[in-house]
Amino acid sequence: MGIALASPSRLASLEGRLPTVATLCSHSSLQIFHGARAEQLPTLGLSVGPPPRFYDAFPLARPDRFLSVPKVAELSGTVPALREAGAVLIPHGSFVEYLGPEAFTKLDVPVFGNRAVLGWESDRRKERDWLESAGVSMPNRYESASEVDGPVIVKYYGAKGGKGFFLAKNREALADFRPTGPYVIQEYVLGTRYYMHFFYSPLSDRGYRVGHGSLELLGMDRRDEANIDELYKLGAQEELLKAGIRPTFVVTGNVPVILRESLLGKAFDVGARIIERSIELFGGMVGPFCVEGIMTEELEFKVFEISTRIVAGTNLFISGSPYSDLVAPGLSTGRRIAQELKRAQSEGRLAEVLS
Ligand code: ATP
Repeated sequence: MGIALASPSRLASLEGRLPTVATLCSHSSLQIFHGARAEQLPTLGLSVGPPPRFYDAFPLARPDRFLSVPKVAELSGTVPALREAGAVLIPHGSFVEYLGPEAFTKLDVPVFGNRAVLGWESDRRKERDWLESAGVSMPNRYESASEVDGPVIVKYYGAKGGKGFFLAKNREALADFRPTGPYVIQEYVLGTRYYMHFFYSPLSDRGYRVGHGSLELLGMDRRDEANIDELYKLGAQEELLKAGIRPTFVVTGNVPVILRESLLGKAFDVGARIIERSIELFGGMVGPFCVEGIMTEELEFKVFEISTRIVAGTNLFISGSPYSDLVAPGLSTGRRIAQELKRAQSEGRLAEVLS
């Protein structure tokens, strides 16, 4: 038996019925609904404004019903209807960001995974403490520009999608840096980016064992980021700056990638450390999460970010990935969530996967 994350009162609305998979219609919701339908679970789409019309074009992913509110701020008001519907909320990037991690954490509806993790993800300092104390390698962090001894990336807090980040080749290039808000200066890691989609099941008693459960790797992507990904074609940074072009990292899409097979051991080691430490710190991260990092030419994996919920890169793999195909055929992250919910319910262990 693992760790109980939810109180009996939180779970009372699920008594004696199949849980309804509910999420905000955005981000990875088509995949989440598609996976729930494949597992015969009822679905409910929350929408701000009328339900997106393009959902009509995807009959296998359209939720059974919609619950619409006129404004994001009114999402919290749907709690009684969601409890009435026996809903389990699936957090995704847009859902948590639109509502704000704090408001999301306060919703009195069962949430898939441990909601306590959102407080660790949304605070860059806590996130670093968690990962470093887990023994995960991260890019260096410089306390001030005078310490810089190589290329750096300067990240302003709350710079959504990396807009406003900037790169400096060395300390000299930072001489004129006048911050316009709170920021961190981080080592710019040269290498290849990988965004690894993991799933931690506290219920599973087979596979790659971690804690009381097991760790699965369901996919991997790299993000297309405008305009940085194509800037190199235009030449050197200084020249670009003279032309008024600054690099940005706004995500515009995702591409599938795989890792050299011999590096998979490192990937699992990083995932396992993060889970083990999460169990010690706050009772464990459950369900999907994504480790975002850079593999250097020395084959060291440096993690610059973790997303503690389903990421949009998993949308590449609705019918399976080169990794999930080795776990079960046609397995998406959305479907894996539905399977975990069903298993938890049939074994009377919902408190271990919901909070
Ligand atoms: P999101 O929340 O959308 O994931 P964010 O605003 O939190 O983004 P990061 O994920 O930290 O920002 O970084 C955005 C992008 O910047 C990364 O996808 C990567 O391309 C680049 N990047 C971030 N940190 C580093 C680093 N230390 N070295 C090299 N590139 C980096």
